[in-house]
Amino acid sequence: MSFEKCYARHLGNCDGKSREHVISRVILESLAPFGVQGFPWLKPGETGQASPNSLTATVLCKHHNGLLSSYDAEAAKLFAHLKLIDSKRTPNELGTVPQISIDGIRFERWLLKVLCGIQASGNFQVNGKFFGKLSPSQYMIDLLYRDEPWKLGIGLYIDFEQRKRLNAFRGLGYDPIYVMTTPTNAMICGIDIHLWGFPFRGLFAVHEDGSFLPGYRPPKLEIVNGEVRKEITFSWPEGTPCNSWPTLTRDGTNPD
Ligand SMILES: [Zn+2]
Repeated sequence: MSFEKCYARHLGNCDGKSREHVISRVILESLAPFGVQGFPWLKPGETGQASPNSLTATVLCKHHNGLLSSYDAEAAKLFAHLKLIDSKRTPNELGTVPQISIDGIRFERWLLKVLCGIQASGNFQVNGKFFGKLSPSQYMIDLLYRDEPWKLGIGLYIDFEQRKRLNAFRGLGYDPIYVMTTPTNAMICGIDIHLWGFPFRGLFAVHEDGSFLPGYRPPKLEIVNGEVRKEITFSWPEGTPCNSWPTLTRDGTNPD
């Protein structure tokens, strides 16, 4: 029997319901028990505890969940690596970390998958208010599932702004990005996800003039401790305008 509440049902071919997680299970298990921010039972900015079983969401059928599994795998790979880097306190220790390359397209689709999942399961707040379950827009679902390149400006942003050091919050957090269209209506257009203190932003709306903000699809992320410099590279399709990248300092003085 096909699962009628699958949020991708307009694409067809739904089968039985899956019991997946808003955030990939492999990531949750590597964290548990872990700190979370952004969940409905927490105040804005508050950190709480969660276990993988508390974060299940039944929002997709098995078929449509399975189509996204390579995105989960890419996010899990990045997450494990960030955790490893963060555990290295000295330049010598950081020097032992291997370099990795992340498939940027898969990772930014994972950000969108999480955004669709938290909307469909009601696991989010906007402006400090809890919302109920909300159908992700057909536009976002099509972006997630259709095998077409995204317009320039849609996708991953890494812009640490003033935060040039690793965050002390070593868990998982997310906040939807929205614009208020009327005093009581918000339009969700992206998500910020913190993986082990590292912030990643997915924006899924574009400026009409085709311009985009700094930090779009960076070619790499650099972590520096003393003389040692480690890169995580991101691969992007040809023609992606990659010109700047964020650098983070790890100097051993961060709190445990
Ligand atoms: Zn389905």
